[in-house]
Amino acid sequence: MIDSFGRQITYLRLSVTERCNLRCRYCMPEDGICKKRHDEMLTQEETIDVIRAAASLGIGKLRITGGEPLVKPNIVDLCARAAAVDGIREVCLTTNATLLPSLAKPLREVGVSRLNISLDTLDPEKFRYITRVGTLSDAIAGIHAALNCGYERIKINAVLVGGFNDDEIPVLAELTRRYPLDVRFIELMPMVDSAEFGPEAFLPCTVVTERLPELEAIKPDGGVAKLYRLPGAKGNIGLISPVSAHFCAACNRIRVTADGKVKPCLHSSDEISLKGQDEDGMRETLRQAILSKPRWHGELSYRARSRAGRQMNQIGG
Ligand code: SAM
Repeated sequence: MIDSFGRQITYLRLSVTERCNLRCRYCMPEDGICKKRHDEMLTQEETIDVIRAAASLGIGKLRITGGEPLVKPNIVDLCARAAAVDGIREVCLTTNATLLPSLAKPLREVGVSRLNISLDTLDPEKFRYITRVGTLSDAIAGIHAALNCGYERIKINAVLVGGFNDDEIPVLAELTRRYPLDVRFIELMPMVDSAEFGPEAFLPCTVVTERLPELEAIKPDGGVAKLYRLPGAKGNIGLISPVSAHFCAACNRIRVTADGKVKPCLHSSDEISLKGQDEDGMRETLRQAILSKPRWHGELSYRARSRAGRQMNQIGG
């Protein structure tokens, strides 16, 4: 479907839970979240109806996210059903990898083809600091499990946090030489829950090309990242700059939260509920949401924080 500004919307980011087994400092509060009632969240049947309705409007790419999707007990079944929906060409999943040791294989077997894995540091103490509760070796074990399961693509996503992990840009980038995976550096977005990080923590992605002058620019692949490669590397380096160089003109996505709200734009508080509708009703609601997608997300800076109105773990990153 084409939105009001001529953008073709082909990509649904679907959050399946607000819960997470980590507490990343820029993403969610330390004490977790106020747990919603079960009946406020989309059921599995409703979730599949959302995917069917979206696919009938031309959505071919689905990303399952959260919260942490792998804490959801029926995640393998849900992914299997999602992959079987007519029109869905690609099921991708975003995870912190800590539960992948046992889930990488079953998820691949039911049709998940790509993984985005969040990893901001390779230092165990810094990993514990940024995630508040996590253990680096669990995430590393999950990444190795994924590498052994034949995923079409694995991307490591590192959020750049000034004074925290900018010294690790070379060592994170080096992963693309050692393993067949991509590493993407993402600018820290000024969400409500990243408020403990002020302007000094924000680093534009250009810091990566400054630290790694040997990076060679390569052709874009149609995604939002600017792509580079280290000489001799197996994977790409991607730079994602939602703050310093927004890519709203190329935005092809809509989001649906775990409690069934369509968000036409990540940084707007506009939401339309799908909960309680049948598939036809959902199709109409999704159509309206696509038509109401704003031209751009408005100013996003440390003076003008995101107007998303929710924490990132509730929206689905
Ligand atoms: N639990 C999964 C994970 O860790 O990847 C999926 C959900 S998480 C909300 C998705 C992505 O959002 C992660 O890569 C995380 O780093 C990113 N994220 C959360 N808050 C962010 C912020 N303030 N700025 C930039 N990225 C953020």
